[in-house]
Amino acid sequence: MTTAQPRTDLDVQPTPLALLLLGREADPASERGVDCPGDLPSPSDPDLVARARAAKEKLGDKVFVLGHHYQRDEVIQFADVTGDSFKLARDAAARPEAEYIVFCGVHFMAESADILTSDEQKVVLPDLAAGCSMADMATAEQVAECWDVLSEAGVADQVVPVAYMNSSADIKAFTGKHGGTICTSSNAKRALEWAFEQGQDPATTKILFLPDQHLGRNTAVRDLGMSLEDCVVYNPHKPNGGLTAEQLRDARMILWRGHCSVHGRFSLESVEDVRARVPGVNVLVHPECKHEVVAAADLVGSTEYIIKTLEAAPRGSKWAIGTELNLVRRLANRFAEEDKEIVFLDRTVCFCSTMNRIDLPHLVWTLESLAEGTLVNRIEVDKETEDFAKLALERMLALP
Ligand code: SF4
Repeated sequence: MTTAQPRTDLDVQPTPLALLLLGREADPASERGVDCPGDLPSPSDPDLVARARAAKEKLGDKVFVLGHHYQRDEVIQFADVTGDSFKLARDAAARPEAEYIVFCGVHFMAESADILTSDEQKVVLPDLAAGCSMADMATAEQVAECWDVLSEAGVADQVVPVAYMNSSADIKAFTGKHGGTICTSSNAKRALEWAFEQGQDPATTKILFLPDQHLGRNTAVRDLGMSLEDCVVYNPHKPNGGLTAEQLRDARMILWRGHCSVHGRFSLESVEDVRARVPGVNVLVHPECKHEVVAAADLVGSTEYIIKTLEAAPRGSKWAIGTELNLVRRLANRFAEEDKEIVFLDRTVCFCSTMNRIDLPHLVWTLESLAEGTLVNRIEVDKETEDFAKLALERMLALP
């Protein structure tokens, strides 16, 4: 019998974030990730709802609670407004009387809210470990190195960066500094068109799309009529991104190798399977899904588009939705009375695990701390980063 020896030659490291989800320890390798510094109420406390309500009432207009579409129901019930990350950040900026903005979402969203709100407003994230795996896939160091690679290949002055809203403040600042813009899944087409017009020669202008390769590819191919061959993928874990100078010179879209771990799970098989299971179903997916999923779907759009499409759908229609499960379940319940059948695109459960970190105990702890005058879990972007990130966001707001 042989005894298993511990392996010391592993070349694949476990993802720290996945381990973090099991416990409450710090995770320095994630976008952010630290232990909750206070005493959380027990999840089984039967008074959690009453406690959250009481603390919120005590705070009154001083607090404004934002709830991203992918949040749990137990948290969403306390949101003053719901929406996607950009809408929520703008809503917060439109409520200057609110001293505390409690962002029930993930870290990059709280950063964006801090960038867009006044200096007097304090943005709070109920669990600092609620990061975003996609945002984690592009760090400031990696992107700076990529720019060096583009410079060495002689193409940097033809490249305009476009960063998806789902990126850290550092990446938004990089984009602002290098003449680029931010985009959401609603305005990605307009952002790319604008970016191509910024170069001296639109025919040779290239876009560095960060950090979601799927949104970049889907927008370029579906909306702008480019071919898949116009796109290359820059892998920050390979020397020179895994690309030759010639490939970089020939490309029109340089896609960062990042993806959403939730939307990336949907496959062509999911689409074929649901069409077989639910005759007459309309497949509606988010553009963060893989290109083959988007190509096989009937409709593609942002979370706001998904909601509007279902609102306008005729009674008796059937829908398979490819986005985060909390939202799909809420929509299925909401539209059941109108006889609209809404199913999740995949057979397996697919929550965003980091979004789900914001639960009722964290929200109660946050609201009670604020009501007692203790500012907790503040998210604050430094001035220089904020200025450049704001520049990129303002370019987005000015998009035609
Ligand atoms: S759903 Fe995807 S992009 Fe959104 S927070 Fe979760 S991992 Fe990030």
